[in-house]
Amino acid sequence: MDALSQARVDLGDRAKVPVRAGAPGVRAADARARTFVPGQLPEAALQRLGPEGILAIQRGSGNRAVSALLGRTNRQSAEASAVTGPGIRLAEGAGPSLMAQELFVQRQPIAPAPQAPLIPGLGRARQDMLEKMIQQADFQGALDTLIGFKHMDYEIETNLLANGTMQYGNFRWDGVTAAPKWDQAGNLLPAVVQIGPTAFRSLPYLYAVVMHEYQHVLDHQTAAGRQKREDGEVEAHAWDILHAVELGISRSPDIVADEWNELNKNYGRITDQQALTRVRPVASRAFAEARKLVGGKATLDTFVP
Ligand SMILES: [Zn+2]
Repeated sequence: MDALSQARVDLGDRAKVPVRAGAPGVRAADARARTFVPGQLPEAALQRLGPEGILAIQRGSGNRAVSALLGRTNRQSAEASAVTGPGIRLAEGAGPSLMAQELFVQRQPIAPAPQAPLIPGLGRARQDMLEKMIQQADFQGALDTLIGFKHMDYEIETNLLANGTMQYGNFRWDGVTAAPKWDQAGNLLPAVVQIGPTAFRSLPYLYAVVMHEYQHVLDHQTAAGRQKREDGEVEAHAWDILHAVELGISRSPDIVADEWNELNKNYGRITDQQALTRVRPVASRAFAEARKLVGGKATLDTFVP
């Protein structure tokens, strides 16, 4: 069984386990009252997402999407917690599942959420369709649809992707493009790209992650591209920053800063002088753009060209 099939089996195999009643900072009565279903989101991914990331998904996509990310299959169970729970405060080390529970007990505003800002590279109708799929926890559907739209726009060649799409996977990374593989006749096989739960922190971010991974897929098509390591990461993060307006991430200083800081980290690891010389101009352009977009609202790591 390959890794993807195994991941699907793992996703389907959810066992109900009780919340740890003895966890610090949690009243025993609260803990007894609740059960949660682990599954969709690994602890590491949840920790990486953090309370703000989960709240962002909750605000953008609602409790149902958060429930699905956390492996909660039942919307009612989340809402029941919200009305009966006197509130849990997360203590240091109490664990991400409890951190998530805390978010469920916050009452939701009754007023409808304002319409999400436009993502120029998608347009309102496509954006609404994708947001709805994410709200309904159809993460694979959202990926297939987003990639289909970008295929229609001549921006993604789906023949380069295994099964013509990217796979939603239960792992801690935003996205991973597997190393290139060939068939026995020496033909490059379509790339296996997996997208993880944390990529769904917002639709613009998902869009950016998909396009970032696609830059790696394009690199796989040439011998020179397959040689790339950190320089390939620099270029793929630069692609996102330089397309920030189209992707819709330009209004999110934290996301732009994350992109820049990852770019910069990889830039600092390049040891090959030719690679460094090649990516220095695009890294400099990305830094200038990131500074402009962030405008002091998030911290950018210092660029040392
Ligand atoms: Zn990458």
